[in-house]
Parts: sequence; structure tokens; C-alpha cells
Amino acid sequence: MRRVSVFGSTGSIGVNTLDLLTRQGGAAAYQVVALTGGQNVDLLASQARALRAEVAVTAYEDCLPALRDALHGSGIEAAAGEAALIEAADRPADWIMSAIVGAAGLAPGFHALRHGTTLALANKESLVTAGPLLLAEAERHGATILPVDSEHSAIFQGLVGEDIAEVERIIITASGGAFRDWPLDKLRHATVAEASSHPNWAMGQRITIDSASMFNKAMEVVETKEYFKVSPGMIEVLVHPESLVHALVGFRDGALMAHLGAPDMRHAIGYALNWPKRDELPVARLDLARIGTLNFSAPDLTRFPALRLAQEVMATGGMAGAAFNAAKEAALDLFIAEKIGFLDMAERVERVLTEMSARQGLGNAAFSLDNIMATDREARRLAHELT
Ligand code: NAD
Ligand code: MG
Repeated sequence: MRRVSVFGSTGSIGVNTLDLLTRQGGAAAYQVVALTGGQNVDLLASQARALRAEVAVTAYEDCLPALRDALHGSGIEAAAGEAALIEAADRPADWIMSAIVGAAGLAPGFHALRHGTTLALANKESLVTAGPLLLAEAERHGATILPVDSEHSAIFQGLVGEDIAEVERIIITASGGAFRDWPLDKLRHATVAEASSHPNWAMGQRITIDSASMFNKAMEVVETKEYFKVSPGMIEVLVHPESLVHALVGFRDGALMAHLGAPDMRHAIGYALNWPKRDELPVARLDLARIGTLNFSAPDLTRFPALRLAQEVMATGGMAGAAFNAAKEAALDLFIAEKIGFLDMAERVERVLTEMSARQGLGNAAFSLDNIMATDREARRLAHELT
């Protein structure tokens, strides 16, 4: 039986992953090694019971007693904290979903790769902060990383049987999020509640707000550069409100290969789960005659400065991705706590990047996990300190 683990099983990607595992036979078809979550221990315990997991891990030590209670009598191990997450990642598995949100997903993914696993990577923060390290680690251990972000899964699928050397551009689409057509003045006063609802995709709160600010797309541009190792100038963002075309790959002969599908993450998750084959998936089939029209437009960099920052991050390289991601996470925390406004997020991130570049030269820093963690801490500290 295939051994599988799901990191971040209680989140939006995690729940969709377990839905597919369950539909494919659950505990009868898969040996589930580890499931991990945060404060939602009741959901975590019920998932672990349903799939007969070996171990359930909550990220938070103070949630351990509740998790133990919820698993009482099941024979499933309960564990908590960062070290327990690493220990779970060190348990050999054939397929591991990396769907913790934020930089916290980096270390477990790293450890998982050392066992030559297939890592289905939803945690885009890993590639933005540590792309070259992560890919090198995978190569060293004969591990495989499969993209789970819908755009990157679409690009990956567009490249099957193709030579990346013949690609001249990669276009990723953006729905435009909750505020696609909002003028700057209105954006300034956008509330957390308004930013937390997405027109097309049902996702976790943090990535939904990142979609409204286009920080999610900015992260995805960097993610594209890191995963596919293409030059920044080859990557384009195209606003596409229907979210049906996920990405397009353009070749040197002018051909554009587009990937279309319903906005349902089970497609990208299922592709990574069934890869290199395809299997039936419970996603809606598109009726293009009924849909009729697809719309595209260029993104507005004035209203969505995050996209401009992504270009700077790629041009700088080195630790710029780690600083960018951490500053973005801190700015998002401040916005959710209603301490800064919607547009202040990009302004805050830009100031952190400028300050850190001036002080320590982000682009020249050596690439190491320690350096990434130190950059992450410093960027968060600065983002909170600047006023
Ligand atoms: P979510 O907030 O719904 O779930 C996050 C998961 O991580 C939960 O299980 C939570 O308990 C766990 N978690 C949170 N903080 C943690 C910490 N400090 N340590 C350990 N675990 C922690 O998030 P999501 O929307 O499922 O997104 C997960 C990842 O997938 C993110 O990196 C996101 O960018 C990426 N992603 C999500 C979608 C989507 O449709 N939701 C699409 C593409 C990529
Ligand atoms: Mg995406």
C-alpha cells in the first residue's frame, strides 16, 4: 500500500486532499502515516480516526491534551510542536502533501525530501523563500517535487512531453481577487471582511486576502521562476476574472498551450496524487458553450504594487524571497489585526525590502537554511517595528 502523509490536513488544501484519499478508498487503499493541523484538534482527530493514521500532530504544544483526549482509545499517537512536525516528516512515506500555510511549512518539507519522497507542494512559501535549496535537496535524495498551486500544476501539465528550452514565455492568470475593479481610494479603506471573500475560489483566509492584494500572484510569479528555472522576463501575469484558464505556456514557434478547468483545487491535488497517470476526479466539467466568453486584461501595477515588488525580489535574488515572504506574512498579520490598512501592506513590505537591502545586501547573502530563517525573523521584526 502507498504510504501517505498530509501536512496541514485541517486546512483548505488538506481537507480537499483527504477528500480525494477517501474517495480513492481511504484506509483500505492508503497507509496514512501522519496528519497535522493547528488548533482545530477535533477535526484533526476525526480525520486521523477516519483514515487510521499512525500519528496526528498539532503545531501547538498547548493543544496536545485536547488532541490526546480526542484520540483516546484509538491507538493513534498524538504529538505536538515543531519538533513533532519534523519527526512526522522524517517518517518515510511515498507521497507527502505539504499544505501548511506560511514559512512554517518549509522545515517539514525539507525533511520529507531527505527520504526520497514525492512531495506535493502546495506551500508556495517554500519555493519563494528557499527555491534553489529545496530543488537541490530533492535532487540530492532522488525526491520529486510536484506543484499543487493551480497555475503551476497547469504549467507543469502544459510542459509534459515538451522541452523547457523551447519555452519563450509562461503566463499565469489572476482572477483579480475581491477588489479587481476597486479604485485606489476605495482600496485604501478595504476591510478584513471584504478582503476575506474570493469571487471564484474557496480557500483559507490568508491566501484569500493575499489574492485581493495580489500578493498571492506576486508569490506565484516568484514560485514560477524558482520551480521552472525560467528567467523573470519570461513570466507574465494576465487578469482573467473567470478563473477557468489557469496558465498558458508559450513556445518559440508562437504556440500557446492553455490549461482550463473548473476552479477546484482537487484538480491540481489529484493530478499530483495520481501523477504520472491521470485518474477520474470529482471536479465539474466545463460547458464552454454555456460559458460563452472568457475575459482577459493586463494587471494594474498602481493598484496592485505587490506585482511590481515580485519583479524586484526576482532581480535581487538571494535572501530577497525570504525577506519578501516574511514581511508579507507580518504585514498580513497586522492587517488582519486591523493595525494597518489594506494598501499599507505593500508599502510595509517595500520598506522592509529597501531597509534590509541597504543594511545587509539581500542579494549577496549565501543560500542556507540558517540564513533563510535569520532573514525571516529579521524581516518580521522590521515589519512590526516600522510605523
Ligand atoms: P489554511 O489556512 O486553510 O490551512 C493551513 C493548514 O496549516 C492548517 O492545517 C493549519 O492548522 C496549519 N497551520 C497553520 N499554521 C501553522 C503553523 N504555524 N505550523 C504548523 N501548521 C500550521 O491554508 P490553505 O488555504 O489550505 O493553504 C495551505 C497552503 O497551500 C498555503 O501555502 C497556500 O498558499 C497554498 N495554496 C492554497 C490554495 C487553496 O486553494 N487553498 C491554493 C494554492 C496554494
Ligand atoms: Mg494559485
